[in-house]
Amino acid sequence: MLDLAIIGGGPAGLAAGLYATRGGLKDVVMFEMGMPGGQITSSSEMENYPGVAAVTDGMSFMAPWQEQCFRFGLKHEMVRVLRVSKDGDGNFTIYLEGDQTRRARAVIVATGSTPRRAGIKGEDEFFGRGVSTCATCDGFFYKGKEVAVLGGGDTALEESLYLAKICSKVYLIHRRDEFRAAPSTVQKVRESENIELITNALVEQIKGDVSGVTGVVVKDKTSGAARELQLPGIFVFVGLDVRNEVLKDESGKFICDVTPGGQVAVNLKMQTSVHGLFAAGDMRQDAPKQVVCAAGDGAVAALSAIAYLQGHDK
Ligand code: FAD
Ligand code: NAP
Repeated sequence: MLDLAIIGGGPAGLAAGLYATRGGLKDVVMFEMGMPGGQITSSSEMENYPGVAAVTDGMSFMAPWQEQCFRFGLKHEMVRVLRVSKDGDGNFTIYLEGDQTRRARAVIVATGSTPRRAGIKGEDEFFGRGVSTCATCDGFFYKGKEVAVLGGGDTALEESLYLAKICSKVYLIHRRDEFRAAPSTVQKVRESENIELITNALVEQIKGDVSGVTGVVVKDKTSGAARELQLPGIFVFVGLDVRNEVLKDESGKFICDVTPGGQVAVNLKMQTSVHGLFAAGDMRQDAPKQVVCAAGDGAVAALSAIAYLQGHDK
């Protein structure tokens, strides 16, 4: 029986692992289906973590986090969790891929979020063959070529700046005239010589052939005029969906309270509506979706889990 199971190894899961093991829990396993680090490892630039003045890529930024946790005894099992249940004896069963199960006295779920698809014709067909959601991973394939970026948030604008250093030109296509990204980032994008802004516009279709993407059809929302950009790649950054699958039972019903958008309802101690089950990071309600906030959530959840296991949380 584990003292604590942590599901997800992003900033929230790793911070939870650090605080749980340093806080004295002995058998703590972090179930992370990939390499620990979470979605920030796909970011090309990380510059807003307090105390870390050097600008670095997300992969380098996260590397020491796991090393620090493992030093205090956190164990990592690289496996996908399918679901979690609370049993009659008050403990939890963790159902893993490959027909395995583990039991734990308490659980912190920190499964984060995942890039959303825009629902454009051709997007699914050419995903991985010219359609991407990761500039750091795929940008190099378009060295010296033109690419399109879709979206108007922090991710779209920051990754446009990254791509502009590799590609000959970036068309940044956004459905409104205003961007929701940070003003300083918007300013940098506006000043970039090889980023062309196409605002108030929609991507109607992603076109391609056996070799992959060959172009995108862009429609102006006011005039209705359509133009085709001939290019081999489009990066889609239209927001994130919460990863909450592990909190559904066999019939697909959530085991704890969630918001209408699928975010897990928690209180300030990161307690869910199920005693002994905690949620942290991007997946919880009203998450600011920042590394520093996810890490803070993880620490709070771990301290709350320790209090729960010691019977001090009544
Ligand atoms: P995640 O980082 O999403 O980690 C969740 C982990 O859970 C993942 O590793 C996933 O593999 C694992 N997982 C999911 N489901 C399962 C399962 N069923 N079984 C096992 N494991 C599972 N924030 C900033 O503060 N500054 C930035 O500059 C910044 N830039 C960003 C740039 C990009 C391109 C992106 C995508 C995000 C950026 N963010 C930034 C946001 C930041 O990355 C997130 O807020 C943060 O990573 C959330 O941490 P998390 O631990 O909650 O979730
Ligand atoms: P986001 O902030 O939700 O922005 C998504 C963008 O995509 C919006 O501009 C939205 O348009 C547009 N969009 C949504 N659906 C669309 C569709 N179907 N077709 C076309 N456009 C569509 O997502 P994000 O940029 O990935 O950021 C997610 C969170 O992570 C945010 O909280 C963000 O602040 C955070 N983050 C922070 C940093 C940082 O701190 N440096 C970096 C990256 C991400 P509208 O504007 O019209 O809604």
